[in-house]
Amino acid sequence: MAVRLVLFGRQGAGKGTQAERLCAHYRAPHISTGEMLRDAAAEGSVVGKRVQVIVDAGQLVSDELMLDVIQDRLAHADVQEGGFILDGFPRTMAQAEALLGLTTIDVAVNLEVPHDIVVERMHGRGRADDHPEAITARLNTYETRTLLALAYLDRQGLVVTVDGIGEPDDVFDRLVKAIDSRVGVS
Ligand code: AMP
Repeated sequence: MAVRLVLFGRQGAGKGTQAERLCAHYRAPHISTGEMLRDAAAEGSVVGKRVQVIVDAGQLVSDELMLDVIQDRLAHADVQEGGFILDGFPRTMAQAEALLGLTTIDVAVNLEVPHDIVVERMHGRGRADDHPEAITARLNTYETRTLLALAYLDRQGLVVTVDGIGEPDDVFDRLVKAIDSRVGVS
C-alpha cells in the first residue's frame, strides 16, 4: 500500500535520517525539498545561484518556486505508484494549503525534539548552511512560520506527534507504530 506522509521536525531533529529509513520501510520515494534545492544550486544555473544565496542565509525560498518544484515532483510516476515521504515541505501555511489542493495525505508526523537539543546537535553537522547565523535563522523560521503549517494540518486532523529524543532505532520504532496506527497497516 502506498503511503503519503509528511514529516515535520526542527532542523537537527533527525528528520532526514528517519525519512530515509521510513522510505525503505514503506517503499516510498523520499522527497526532500532541501536536497532538491541543493542539487539545483550545485548545477550553477541562474535560478540555482539565487536559491543558493537564500539557502545559505537560512531563509525560505519563495512559496511560488517551492510549489512549482513540488507540483512537478508529485506528478512523477514513482510518486503516483509508491506514494511519498515529504521531508522539508510544507514550511509555510500557504505551502500546507496548496499541498492539500494537490494531493491527499495520510498523516503528518511531527518529530518532536525541543529547541535546545537541536541546537546542540546541529553544531556538529558541517553543512555549508550550518553556520551559527543560518542555524538561528532556520530555527526562528521554524517557530514563526513552519509551526503555522503544522497547526493548519493539525486542524485537518492529520498530525501525530512522536518523541524524537533517544536512540535512532527507538525513534524509528515509535514512528512506524504511530504511522501504522494512522494508515491502517497492521
Ligand atoms: P532542509 O534540508 O530541509 O533543512 O532545507 C535546507 C534549506 O532549503 C532551508 O533552510 C531553506 O532555505 C530551503 N528550503 C527547503 N525546503 C523549503 C520549503 N519547503 N520552503 C522554502 N524553503 C525551503
